[in-house]
Amino acid sequence: MGLGRLIVLTGPSGVGKGTLLRSLLKRHPELYLSISVTTRAPRPSEVDGQHYYFVTRTQFERMVANNELLEWAEFAGNCYGTPREPVENQIAQGKWVILEIELEGARQIRRTFPEALRMFILPPSLGELEYRIRNRAQDSEDAIAQRLQRARAEVEAADEFDIQIVNDEFEAALNRIEAALFTPVNV
Ligand code: 5GP
Repeated sequence: MGLGRLIVLTGPSGVGKGTLLRSLLKRHPELYLSISVTTRAPRPSEVDGQHYYFVTRTQFERMVANNELLEWAEFAGNCYGTPREPVENQIAQGKWVILEIELEGARQIRRTFPEALRMFILPPSLGELEYRIRNRAQDSEDAIAQRLQRARAEVEAADEFDIQIVNDEFEAALNRIEAALFTPVNV
């Protein structure tokens, strides 16, 4: 059995992380995607236990108090966190575990799991990102404004990550993520 590994994928809202990740998992079903808990309301297409575990703020706070979350953060008025146990179990079994999380959570992981590989997905430009966030039309105007503001701050922190990948052309970006994960590094 191989060695377990933690991989963090971060990037501003609307950059296309989710779509890249779904394609990556299709190509590599051996990868394990952590399912987060969130206090955000489900979007129409989202399924509890598949996209997220949707919880109340009280439930979320209890999980934090019981140290059940590996990391957590507030984002655009809601809380998001990574359940600790499944991630630790999968890594102990030699699996590669992917966390798709925002910047604050990624910073926490850098402190608690310094050996994790941390990748940042960048948009081709901030203008393009704004277009994508608005075009998604899934969120209220207020949430869109919060997401845009946060997106700018996140993009500025891209250098904190081990690898930066620009999502300019989908297939090329996917190939770059794949190469970062699976190309052996000569040391
Ligand atoms: P969304 O509401 O668009 O699904 O997610 C908003 C942001 O929260 C995204 O940047 C996503 O990566 C991040 N996120 C999702 N799950 C987690 C988590 O468990 N922890 C942290 N820190 N961020 C998360």
